[in-house]
Amino acid sequence: PLPRDERQELELFGTGNTGINFSKYEDIPVEASGDRVPDFITSFEDVNLTEIMRSNIAAARYDKPTPVQKYAIPIVLGRRDVMACAQTGSGKTAAFLVPILNQMYEAGPVKNMGPFNRGRKQYPLGLVLAPTRELATQIYDEARKFAYRSRVRPCVVYGGSPIHEQFRELERGCHLLVATPGRLVDMLVRGRVALDHCRHLVLDEADRMLDMGFEPQIRKIVESHTMPKTGERQTLMFSATFPKQIQVLAQDFLYNYVFLAVGRVGSTSENITQKVVWVEEMDKRSFLLDLLNASNLLQRQRPEEDQLILVFVETKKGADQLEEYLGNLGYPVTSIHGDRTQREREEALRRFRTGQTPILVATAVAARGLDIPHVRHVINFDLPSDVEEYVHRIGRTGRMGNLGVATSFFNDTNRGLARDLVELLVEAKQDVPNWLTSTAADGRLGGGGRRTGSRSGGGRFGGGGG
Ligand code: ADP
Ligand code: MG
Repeated sequence: PLPRDERQELELFGTGNTGINFSKYEDIPVEASGDRVPDFITSFEDVNLTEIMRSNIAAARYDKPTPVQKYAIPIVLGRRDVMACAQTGSGKTAAFLVPILNQMYEAGPVKNMGPFNRGRKQYPLGLVLAPTRELATQIYDEARKFAYRSRVRPCVVYGGSPIHEQFRELERGCHLLVATPGRLVDMLVRGRVALDHCRHLVLDEADRMLDMGFEPQIRKIVESHTMPKTGERQTLMFSATFPKQIQVLAQDFLYNYVFLAVGRVGSTSENITQKVVWVEEMDKRSFLLDLLNASNLLQRQRPEEDQLILVFVETKKGADQLEEYLGNLGYPVTSIHGDRTQREREEALRRFRTGQTPILVATAVAARGLDIPHVRHVINFDLPSDVEEYVHRIGRTGRMGNLGVATSFFNDTNRGLARDLVELLVEAKQDVPNWLTSTAADGRLGGGGRRTGSRSGGGRFGGGGG
């Protein structure tokens, strides 16, 4: 058997490179803005890292930093706050772990480090919030690598797992805590964790945390009276998109921050092809079948995440009916809506995520608060009434490096959306159908109906633009 050290190294670092596909990411553009932004680095040698950190980076086989790491590492080492918009797979985890842990090593042994730190209540020096158990665990695994042979002990806590086992882990000492927001609030309330010494705070995948409805918990944590105030702690926020709600959080939580835009920011990324087609209510089902048949989904044994199709409908009844219709025709489909129990929704989501049923029919309300994976194709079987919700939905596709498609069925009932939709499509450099442009113009004039191929005629809806 291997000596204990070597066993542990093997367990932590593995034998092969987990490897990032550098050719794919190397030329991702990064833009940094803010007050006196430190220069980016091109190699891990360009910054003064502690010996422990250098050797752990080498053991992890990180030969050179990814674009987001090149910028974030010197900025975070310079003790600045950061708002970074970067998509998945860009190496964000090390971008915050390396400089935060290194600062802890440089600060040297502090009162609550080391073996005398054991006890009922833990005072972590750093806190990382992440939306899901999976993500929290991934960050924790990475933290263990970079904390190897240091005095810093990382811990992870998340919901859906016995809290008492997590208490026991915490009691052995916790300097860097990775947590999902709900479970952390629970830990704070029970007096197992206190934030008085928290000098580094990271919100990872902040947009996803908000999607999942965690804003109240996040605010409770960050604004708790024991947490050092904005400016007294270092705060880093990472998010794939930068909608209004995230901007507000950044205003509230960050101090004189550096803004990093890694790759293309925003949900109307050029990676998403947005199509709007005029489809009457009665024709929607056959149009949908055409789309499903055109995807190569059904030839696949087990579609990967990037093959999944997400179909949005407006009502619970609509979701039930569409699922039944597709199911009867033999399509692998499941659905989530407000009449399903949380358990049923999670089961449906699991079947979707694993590709068992690669078509998911969802109402927007039910989809909110669930960790829906990123998909290949979003279909707005029914369009929402406001454009923000539209942006939100199509943001489920076209993540970093992956091309996504969003197809929306538009008819008279959606007139109210026409103007905003046109504006959005133009901004995202998408093709705008002529009929949509004129529908938007009709709306502005406040009258007139568009009748092309329309069974009902626009007049019935009083030209109800905007
Ligand atoms: P993100 O959080 O941006 O989605 P991760 O931090 O999870 O990305 O990194 C994605 C993968 O790339 C992980 O397996 C990680 O270990 C690996 N990785 C990150 N940075 C580097 C690097 N500099 N060199 C080699 N592999 C890296
Ligand atoms: Mg990540």
